[in-house]
Amino acid sequence: MRRLAGAGTATLAAPTAAAAQNTAAPPTARRLPARGEFVIRNAYVLTMDATLGDVPGGDIHVRNGEIVAVGRDLRAPVATPIDGRTAIVMPGFIDTHWHMWTTFLRCMAGDRTNDGYFPVTTVYGQLMDPEDMYRSTRLAAAEAIYSGTTTVNDECHNVRSFAHAAADISALREIGVRGRWSFGAYRGIPAGQARDMGIVRKLHDEWAKHSGDGLIHLAVTAGGAGTAANPLPPDRLELAKKEFAVARELGLPITTHLSAKENTPPGWVEASQQAGFLGNDVLLIHVLSASPEEMKILASTGTHVSVSPGSELRIGYGLTKATAFMDAGVNVAVSVDTAPLTGNCHMFGILKLLRNAENAKAFDEFKLSARKALEMGTIQGARALGIDDRVGSLTPGKRADLIMIATNALNIGPFTDPTHMVVEAVEPANVSMVVVDGRILKRDGKMVACAPDRIIADARAARDAVARRGNLRRI
Ligand SMILES: [Zn+2]
Repeated sequence: MRRLAGAGTATLAAPTAAAAQNTAAPPTARRLPARGEFVIRNAYVLTMDATLGDVPGGDIHVRNGEIVAVGRDLRAPVATPIDGRTAIVMPGFIDTHWHMWTTFLRCMAGDRTNDGYFPVTTVYGQLMDPEDMYRSTRLAAAEAIYSGTTTVNDECHNVRSFAHAAADISALREIGVRGRWSFGAYRGIPAGQARDMGIVRKLHDEWAKHSGDGLIHLAVTAGGAGTAANPLPPDRLELAKKEFAVARELGLPITTHLSAKENTPPGWVEASQQAGFLGNDVLLIHVLSASPEEMKILASTGTHVSVSPGSELRIGYGLTKATAFMDAGVNVAVSVDTAPLTGNCHMFGILKLLRNAENAKAFDEFKLSARKALEMGTIQGARALGIDDRVGSLTPGKRADLIMIATNALNIGPFTDPTHMVVEAVEPANVSMVVVDGRILKRDGKMVACAPDRIIADARAARDAVARRGNLRRI
């Protein structure tokens, strides 16, 4: 018998967030809500911590951004109480690969060769100025918070200048999402041309100005491996080696898109190993062509893998191999990728697609459990980004990145199995509260630290202005 079934709608007490009114203010001038002290009481707590497990009817005490305690009937006399009855509380989701600057092109990957994902993002991307980057990425960051994703890996692969990079990062900082910002190439870069690695060096040198008090960390998206030819062309291999060398000199983690299509011949992982491109500091994206032998190489080198079934299925890369990677011992995380292909960008939909595709492929109802899917979207994502000492589970001592799901809704109730409910039934609108680093950014289902209408309007205006500049088709 579950204690949470059937009670009234959760009411959340004592807002600490001041609702911001003016999104026209400079990004750095906006102030995020203060970190307070609160205790959520009587929730079904999915800690995603292997030792703590689930705590039905549990409390979670947060003070100054840190999880102080998780358990039943916690003593927290000065903490503001928040009613968790009927609610599931769990760690915020962790995205591990998202081209956030593409978000104002949502649903614009068309149905013909010349207006598919790559041509559309390239045509628009080449015309985007720093303000466009900021507005599109801010829309993505706000959608992340709205949808219960508290950490993103913003794979910025349209860094046309230092100003483009700085503007893109400022959008993450303004919204208050935790994240990795990954320095990538830019749309339309001539094949074989080196990127200006001076941009990432400058960012690294002055990172304290960009990091949002350490909430965002810097990484490099190293190119070179690509997705088409095998083996690596020598010129691109040399470029990639230089990018890896700069990243490792600066101590920055690395992500690489590798052999996306399932029907690409294997060999890329082996080639990457020979080039020194694998390791615990590397997150590979897609890798759908990996053979069983290559999966073993990834496991033995500690290389992480990010799967994005929402985009991989939509663009025709093939079916996920997530469980095969995990069976081989690889840490597998989950990612959004890009809104032009996926439409929306929430983890509930992505995890549902992932689990269903895995089960369908295996002709097995039980191939990927709901709990394992949730681990992929939380603690395994944190591990892939190297931040599992801080987030990814509701463990005392970690930072308070958590979400609360109001389950007394027509698309969820009655309360049954919470892991199945989250993967199969929950939608972003059911996320009643989102906390990042102890700051309440969504409460009672409403965004409380940003103005969604303005964010959407600004993104639309920027997208339309880009289209006008390029005389492009507009919707
Ligand atoms: Zn990608």
